[in-house]
Order: sequence, then C-alpha cells, then structure tokens
Amino acid sequence: MTTLAHKFNDTDPNVRFLEEVSERTAGVSRLEMCIQCGTCGGSCPSAADMDHTPRMLFALIRAGMREEALSSNTPWICVSCYHCVVRCPQDVHIADVMYTLKSMAIQAKLYKDSTAPDFSQTFVDMVETYGRSYEFGLATRHYLKHFPLRMPSMAPMGLGMLTKKRMDITPKRIEGIEQLKAILARAKQLEVVS
Ligand code: SF4
Ligand code: SF4
Repeated sequence: MTTLAHKFNDTDPNVRFLEEVSERTAGVSRLEMCIQCGTCGGSCPSAADMDHTPRMLFALIRAGMREEALSSNTPWICVSCYHCVVRCPQDVHIADVMYTLKSMAIQAKLYKDSTAPDFSQTFVDMVETYGRSYEFGLATRHYLKHFPLRMPSMAPMGLGMLTKKRMDITPKRIEGIEQLKAILARAKQLEVVS
C-alpha cells in the first residue's frame, strides 16, 4: 500500500527532481526562488513554439513531473537570448536551467526531436574547432544530414544572409584557440570527476 510517507519519500527521484536540476546547473540556478509570475514566458520570443512556457516547465519540475519536463520541447526551442533572465524578478538563471534540462533529457533519452541532440553536438564541435559558432557550416551539415530535401527551400534565405554579410561562408578561428581547447579539456576532466 502506498502511504503518505512513501509518496513523499525524499529518495524518490521525482521528489528530488527540483534539487537535482538545481545541483546539475552550472553556478547557481535559483530555481527554487521562482514565484510563477510568468514574466519569462511573456518575454520569450520562442514561447509560441514551446510545449510549455518556462513558467509551466518550472512548475512541472517543482511538482516532480520528471518525464513530462524532460520530454518537453521547451529547452530545445530556447535560443538562449536571455530576455527572460534579465526580466525575471527572482533572478532565476532560466537559460542555464534550459541547458541542464537538455543534458538530462539526452541522458534519459526522453527528448522528442531525435535531431536536437545531434544539432547541439554539431554546435559544440564547431565551437571546439573554431572557438565560435559557424552558422553556415552548422546549418549545412544539419540539413544535409537530416533534411536534405529541404535544402533547396533554404537556399534563398542562406544566400540572402551571405550577401548581407550576416553569415560567413568560411569559418574563422579565434585567436587563442589552443588555450580555449585546453580550458575545455580541463572542464571535461572535472565533469568526469564530479
Ligand atoms: S520570470 Fe522568474 S519568477 Fe517569474 S515565472 Fe519566470 S522564472 Fe519564475
Ligand atoms: S533565454 Fe530561452 S526561455 Fe528565455 S526568453 Fe530567450 S528563448 Fe525564451
């Protein structure tokens, strides 16, 4: 029989979900400070495409609804613009929490869009190689791999961005790429240890 004590057993991973998300977020998440005001969703340029607004997602986390939260498309739709972060009255580190949720969704294999982790990995590979994002290479590689039939319809937009110099056709490596690689290698070592 499920007793109240069982239901609120603090070893239950769902009950500890909020704590776990906070612990896994780099620095301080302040997630527990969320007052559900909804300012984040109201500031978010991507909210219309999200399964849950950030406020709703944080309510799911607080309620221990692990599977629902980790299968939400919201963290994958977040473009890290930080609009919500600067407006949050409680200084919740919303964009950082989105990164944590993506990583947890990959580990739990709960993400819905099977191309999303691959897109993130391609982005990380580019940053590790060039020290910055390389949008043309990222989009080309992603669409060729997952949506080759959509390439012709994307071409006019890509050409427009190239001609208006909003995107470079060739990647540019930052100065000090070797130092960045050393920092990233050390960060990976620390991640394995922790
Ligand atoms: S703006 Fe901040 S306090 Fe308000 S719902 Fe969003 S995260 Fe919570
Ligand atoms: S950081 Fe993400 S969640 Fe926040 S406003 Fe930008 S897209 Fe929306």
